[in-house]
Amino acid sequence: MIKGKKRGQLVVLSGPSGVGKGTVIQYVRQRRPELTFSISYTTRKPREGEVDHVHYHYVSVETFRQMIEEGAFLEYTRYQENYYGTAKADVEALREQGQDVLLDIEVEGGSNVRRLCPESTLIFLLPPSFEELEARLRGRKSESDEVIRGRLSRAREELQEVPNYDFLLVNDHVEQTGEEMLAILKAQECRVSARLDLLKEM
Ligand code: 5GP
Repeated sequence: MIKGKKRGQLVVLSGPSGVGKGTVIQYVRQRRPELTFSISYTTRKPREGEVDHVHYHYVSVETFRQMIEEGAFLEYTRYQENYYGTAKADVEALREQGQDVLLDIEVEGGSNVRRLCPESTLIFLLPPSFEELEARLRGRKSESDEVIRGRLSRAREELQEVPNYDFLLVNDHVEQTGEEMLAILKAQECRVSARLDLLKEM
């Protein structure tokens, strides 16, 4: 770790597919550039407009399985026929440099991160309603009806995990949600446990 610099925070953002996590993350990162987004590995094919090594590292199932065997993942999951995983080394290196790291992962990954890194901050993003979520998923025009139905039923299951999260936000307006998330990050930074170095200096 860089001398005199504290270890970076680990922040998890979860929420149903289509809730708008990407847009909120973009808003927050524009205002807090020191928050680094951890790019996950996935076996899903890129959607239109998605770029390799920007949105995800797109890999084959063979490569993903090999990475599992090598213990390369902090956490991983299988979500609707595809694998998704967070690379351990990437997150560790960034946090050691004192950078805050943001993970956009689903709830199983969220609870695994909580178990492995109890000091992490878990934020869950809700849609204003299920009707609105369905409209957003359909508006994306990238998935079949079957995939959309699967994602909606998974969204209802994911709600069961919300009590394990620290913060719950409703993504009605991106600016408001983004500001709330920035406030959470600021508050976490001011926790006594995150500022013991200041006390020691005194
Ligand atoms: P999508 O296919 O819509 O990009 O992502 C599907 C779901 O996988 C989303 O809920 C997203 O948050 C989650 N996800 C993306 N990367 C990871 C990851 O590395 N680990 C886990 N557990 N979930 C992920």
